[in-house]
Amino acid sequence: MKRNLLFFLILLLFLTGFACRPAPKAEPTLEIYVFSARKSDSSDALLLRGEDFAVLIDTGLKDNAKKLSERLTEIGVTRLDCVILTHFDKDHMGGAEQIAEDFEVAQVYMADYMSDGKPYRNMVAAFSAANIPFLRVSEAADIEIADLRISFTPSPLDYDGEDESDNAQSLICGVTYGESRLLFMGDANGAWLEKLCFGAYNLSCDFLKLPHHGVWNENLIWLLTVSMPNIVVVTDSDKDPADPQTVGLLDSFGMEAYYTKDGELHFRIDKKNQITYEGKD
Ligand SMILES: [Zn+2]
Repeated sequence: MKRNLLFFLILLLFLTGFACRPAPKAEPTLEIYVFSARKSDSSDALLLRGEDFAVLIDTGLKDNAKKLSERLTEIGVTRLDCVILTHFDKDHMGGAEQIAEDFEVAQVYMADYMSDGKPYRNMVAAFSAANIPFLRVSEAADIEIADLRISFTPSPLDYDGEDESDNAQSLICGVTYGESRLLFMGDANGAWLEKLCFGAYNLSCDFLKLPHHGVWNENLIWLLTVSMPNIVVVTDSDKDPADPQTVGLLDSFGMEAYYTKDGELHFRIDKKNQITYEGKD
């Protein structure tokens, strides 16, 4: 009888020991949200989010700023570790004032040039008013935010104030997370895209945000050849869809291509470079 009781007690300890053991912690992942402009002109706004960090790359159009802010809140973002403004075209920095108003932002990194447009001046004034520090990235630099390493590559070209010159100032952001490398190209085009493809830049990546909304550029052939991503994201819209030649090129490379004209895109990446497309929200 005593032996049975002892056996029962040991069994109970064994079972409750297991029951009290904490559930295994989920592996950390990086989530990427690529927001969609749908019926507006094409634009860029992308969120990189982990358990303890949030980074916003570009802020979309002013007309969509409230929607972007609401969507970030819905996702659970309250604080941004940094906001990166790749260049100062309205489809990349239009939502910056709203972001400055609605979120705690620890730091802003931006391309290193001045624009004389009112949206630019308003953006700088909004960050200053909210006491958000901003830094113009004038030379290649790395920053670390939690498990992310972000490598900035600024454009070496001069800004001449012409329309296309803004695109050629695009600040390139390479992001390393575990074994994965992601590359965000802003709207790099023209001579800047050519320099990137043929110069001593490391463009190799697993995930590529294609530059300039899918507008055709023959250097895209070289970009894909040197970067060889598995996944390519094109930030186009219904009003402003990617050029069929660009779509055809991505098909011919056999890369998984996703377009924001189809809606918001959501990806999850683990540290072993497993990238999962979580679907359109
Ligand atoms: Zn753009």
